[in-house]
Amino acid sequence: MKVAQLGSGTPEIAVVAGVHGDEPCGVRAVERLLDDRPTVKRPVKLIVANEEALERRVRFVDEDLNRAFPGDPDAKTHEGQLADELVSELAGCLTFSMHSTQSHAEPFAIVNGVSETAKALVPQLPVAAMVETSNFAEGRLFSAIDTIEVECGLQGSETAAENADRLTRAFLTAVDALPGDTIHSDLPVYRLTDVINKGQASTYEVFVDNFTQVEAGAPFAAADGDKQVADEPFYPVLMSSNGYRDVFGYAAEKLEVLETPPAAD
Ligand SMILES: [Zn+2]
Repeated sequence: MKVAQLGSGTPEIAVVAGVHGDEPCGVRAVERLLDDRPTVKRPVKLIVANEEALERRVRFVDEDLNRAFPGDPDAKTHEGQLADELVSELAGCLTFSMHSTQSHAEPFAIVNGVSETAKALVPQLPVAAMVETSNFAEGRLFSAIDTIEVECGLQGSETAAENADRLTRAFLTAVDALPGDTIHSDLPVYRLTDVINKGQASTYEVFVDNFTQVEAGAPFAAADGDKQVADEPFYPVLMSSNGYRDVFGYAAEKLEVLETPPAAD
């Protein structure tokens, strides 16, 4: 794990990259901040989490770090120990953690409950949606540390790296670490309700777009040509044919749209 800091004092804000070793976008954003060394109004901790997995370009070495929290110093896995170290390092910090995905090119935020902090900060980020995943929080970083996660775009893409940079700067501006203003936008909020499982097969297909409602009766995915049909309407989130080993993704419900507050004079 690499730990660095912008500014002096004890940070209450942290930016984390590389929780997953096959998602380099956030690492680029952190390295850029370390190169640029912008003057900050409050100190910021910068962390590159799973360096071993990043070196090997794999999601994890022994187990998924984002399912291993809070971790244990005596854990038998690399990620179990790393989770414990990361929790110690991030204690007391509002944390911004960057990911990328095979499912959706446009950035969106993932939060563990629609808190006042999430409502205040996430509409200031360049994201298209906020996804509330408290039904599936077990083992994730935000089960142990107050965290806003962002999906920056498609894994390994140049656009995801550029998005990670924009998202980080917007977050640091929103928390008043960097000077300047953010842009507020209306933000739809979704809550994950179900996992969409996929059976053993050699080919997988997904027929629907993430964040676009699937009607009851519509086929939304197939394993070896066997179509899965929606029992009831849902919003697909993090759905992709081969992004995860045993699930297509998640079903979500739409909760609300956070409206842009009127501009202050
Ligand atoms: Zn990830």
